[in-house]
Amino acid sequence: MVQIRHALSVKRADNFAEWYQAVIAEADLAEESGVRGCMVMKPWGYGIWERIQRLMDARIKAAGVDNCYFPIFIPLSNFEREAEHVEGFAKEMAVVTHHRLIAGEDGKLVPDPEAKLEEPLVVRPTSETIIGDAMARWVQSWRDLPLLTNQWANVVRWEMRTRMFLRTSEFLWQEGHTAHETREDALTETHRAIEMYRACAEDELAIPVIVGEKPENERFPGAVETWSIEAMMQDGKALQAGTSHYLGTNFAEASGIRFQDREGSQQLAHTTSWGFSTRMVGGVIMTHGDDDGLRVPPAIAPHQVVILPMLRDKPEDAALLAYCEELRDAIAGKDVLREPVRVLLDRKPGKAAAKRWDWVRKGAPVIIEVGGRDMENDVVSLLRRDDLWNMENGKPNFSTPSRTETADRVVAILQDMQTALFVEARDRRERNVTRDVNEFSQIEALYAEGASAPGWVEVQWSRPTGEELEAVIERLKALKLTFRNVPVDAPPADGKCIFTGKPAVERIIVGRAY
Ligand code: AMP
Repeated sequence: MVQIRHALSVKRADNFAEWYQAVIAEADLAEESGVRGCMVMKPWGYGIWERIQRLMDARIKAAGVDNCYFPIFIPLSNFEREAEHVEGFAKEMAVVTHHRLIAGEDGKLVPDPEAKLEEPLVVRPTSETIIGDAMARWVQSWRDLPLLTNQWANVVRWEMRTRMFLRTSEFLWQEGHTAHETREDALTETHRAIEMYRACAEDELAIPVIVGEKPENERFPGAVETWSIEAMMQDGKALQAGTSHYLGTNFAEASGIRFQDREGSQQLAHTTSWGFSTRMVGGVIMTHGDDDGLRVPPAIAPHQVVILPMLRDKPEDAALLAYCEELRDAIAGKDVLREPVRVLLDRKPGKAAAKRWDWVRKGAPVIIEVGGRDMENDVVSLLRRDDLWNMENGKPNFSTPSRTETADRVVAILQDMQTALFVEARDRRERNVTRDVNEFSQIEALYAEGASAPGWVEVQWSRPTGEELEAVIERLKALKLTFRNVPVDAPPADGKCIFTGKPAVERIIVGRAY
């Protein structure tokens, strides 16, 4: 076999966690900020988020949901109205208590005791309680329903174990909040939102996901039902990639969202909330990255094509640049995935080969190099990021389409790559879900110390509650396992519960998770 010299110093197989950090650094996505758990998103990383945001926003608007903006500070008493909600979030709330600093005895600035807030303000960890207040003002009659709102915002959860993108103390997200006349309407919206997340993850991020309901111990604090999409990362661990909650009338009661129904009596509204965050950029890295860096699916790549002219500080450069500009315009004139192709002509100084590897590590889908000889032959040298290496000689796998056919070739490659990345990830996941497990001892063997990453198992269970459920959770915890979700499209149960031995009622996925 030929030896390939990969672009990253750490390989996925050697140390997945270190490899993840290396991709973030080498693809220039983000960096630590000095404030624990908070990161600086750099242009390429933020650019990917902006693409995700734009595509998701289009889906949200297409569903008739309007964007709004609510304050970052929420009075503490708002949280206290919903007991489960405040209990769930209390451990991770950042709280503002003062509005002024003064010089202390040693000259250092300290909060001014005279400027203590009457009521502490929580930096929003999620906005149900403040949007609930607005809904209570905006909803009077059944004619005001459904009320469909969304906001794009930053939120703060004081996470103890943080990892860039996947779990940060401050993160960016959208949070949808809706109010409905009936339970059925609210459940329909809960399911619509999770289906929207599935479509965005699979069609745009090329990340295959499993849609399902979370078991009761994994529910959002205050929710009646929590639905998630779960994605499998390359190390076999799960990433909860988006959640949609049916909140019943719990939050309506806390905030007083009441309306006059069609018969004229007062009712509590049924509400939902759903969120999708910058965590997904981490999901893209852990799904599509390889030993040469990131591979960005074309739909969310800030630049889908990068043209690198091999400039030599010579008069001939002018002709080369003109050739590249013409090429850029031809490519930018085409559409792919329902948008004009995003192409960058990278004129930055520097050796073309070094710049090539920068873009390989960043994962630009197509890299086109143009040198004097290419121009003479009326061709370009084209590299496809998901087919980087020539396996016969261990060199980069350049193809040399003619100048005139390059734009069409690029469109075909981008379209193909969008599907190919998804299929690769889906096939990998399917190879790593074990479905024929009937005894708990089989799970213990699969996840025994030293066993290779076994992915997930899908088992039949009797949906235990209370102490019986607690006992199951403890057994799983000993193996560092958690419940992921109950897949909507799993076949019905036909056996006994692997945990309790009772007749099973459904199937549930178990795995290690981020
Ligand atoms: P939740 O409001 O808890 O249902 O969260 C909504 C979504 O936000 C989750 O499904 C995650 O994808 C994401 N999320 C939650 N916590 C974090 C975090 N600390 N950093 C990044 N994303 C997060």
